[in-house]
Amino acid sequence: MSWERNIVLKTPAELEVMRKAGRINAMALAEVAKNVRPGITTGQLDKIAEQLIRDHGGTPAFLNYPGPYPYPATLNTSVNEELVHGLPGKRELREGDILSVDCGTVYEGFVGDSAFSMGIGEVSAEAQKLMDVTQESLRLGIAQMIPGNHVGDVSAAVQEHVEAHGYHVPREYTGHGVGRKMHEGPQVPNYGVRGQGILLRPGMTIALEPMVLVGTHRTRVLKDQWTVVSADGSLTAHFEHSVAVTEDGPLVLTAV
Ligand code: MG
Ligand code: MG
Repeated sequence: MSWERNIVLKTPAELEVMRKAGRINAMALAEVAKNVRPGITTGQLDKIAEQLIRDHGGTPAFLNYPGPYPYPATLNTSVNEELVHGLPGKRELREGDILSVDCGTVYEGFVGDSAFSMGIGEVSAEAQKLMDVTQESLRLGIAQMIPGNHVGDVSAAVQEHVEAHGYHVPREYTGHGVGRKMHEGPQVPNYGVRGQGILLRPGMTIALEPMVLVGTHRTRVLKDQWTVVSADGSLTAHFEHSVAVTEDGPLVLTAV
């Protein structure tokens, strides 16, 4: 697919709908966070998110998403060395785990896509630092999402912060435009060069999603054909917001 030909600028009215989709998505993630505790399964968290989305008139964007086989759940729940696309199921969370939760909601035809990582109870200092660095890299990337900047400015802001802390960003998985489809143009990698890439214009809507690995940038996919893990088994974290580029600066669409 050509990402560049797939950029769809949104009107202010469409951005308002996207905010509603994003708000429902944020509420679902907040409900998941509230219920996270040692012993709960990722499958239970998935049902909690699905219920909240449906109760608010939305539908889960990931459910049946095309892939090696249609995606079977509402959430991606990725634990520890699992970077993204972890399948919810019978796994029980344990004290000290890092859980990354990614969720998408369709509301009135538009998608909200966001993710966060959190520790289960007490986590190691390294795990906490990893999550803090990842979340901060998202904030720094979003700050670059202003008209006149390029995709490379956003990507570089993420990469520079992550690598300054000795961590790594994957090459195969990236942020993306978001709108009526979950994946639109432009593609927004977590690595790049300032001043390069697509010019950011008002009305662009981008899901920026730093994925960060402690030991390597390399990843592999598990036998379930969805779950992406760090190649060396090291810890990973993932934060994401859907954000609109506007004349007034970046507008986070997936805030509560
Ligand atoms: Mg996502
Ligand atoms: Mg995304």
